[in-house]
Amino acid sequence: MNPVYDTPTVERRTAAWLRLQEGNRRWAEGTSESGTTRSPQRRADLVAGQAPFAAVLSCADSRLPTELIFDQGLGDLFVVRTAGHAVDDTVLGSLEYAVDVLGVDLLVVLGHQGCGAVAAAARAVTHGTVPAGHIRDIVERLSCDILQAHHAGLVEADDLSRWHAAATADLLQQRSTVVQEAVFHARIGVVAATYDLATGLAIPAPIGRPAVITEPPVFEEHLVNEHQSSVA
Ligand SMILES: [Zn+2]
Repeated sequence: MNPVYDTPTVERRTAAWLRLQEGNRRWAEGTSESGTTRSPQRRADLVAGQAPFAAVLSCADSRLPTELIFDQGLGDLFVVRTAGHAVDDTVLGSLEYAVDVLGVDLLVVLGHQGCGAVAAAARAVTHGTVPAGHIRDIVERLSCDILQAHHAGLVEADDLSRWHAAATADLLQQRSTVVQEAVFHARIGVVAATYDLATGLAIPAPIGRPAVITEPPVFEEHLVNEHQSSVA
């Protein structure tokens, strides 16, 4: 059994994030080691059910294969991917399933450097270029975050991606009462991060201060209290 599930909740949330960080470091260094957790035996062991320790909402970009960049195996992560990690009802429903039914300890939003969806939304906001078809739907869902970022003085593509990742983590808590209550009762942690295509590192973008990169998150009780006050 994974030791993550044997410890108190706050430690579980932090342990889940540390586990992802350690896996990401291995990926960045070229020392990935999750081969055994992708074996036929592992596949057989998981036929009866799944118990992923984290849910990840990330961009569908082909350079962002979630299990690989966190060096995790079969059954470890519940992954939802859309272009620009745009959020709609089915995304929310999928993540609510991960939180409420599967009992993940951590919810991660992962954006990335050089995101085409973020760039398209920035072009729409700045130049009025609206893409055709359903690509427009993606741009519409990202545009408010781009507008907010511009009002905060951010124009560089990487800053917009960081802002959008953090704003999406906030949005999940605003839109989903399941996620909001899980955070309120300290059952899950929420992390926003962006992925650097060149280094392979996922770098946290603190929620509430999207433009600022500081230390990686540790789920102290004061963070829970902040959420409690915002919910109340
Ligand atoms: Zn992208």
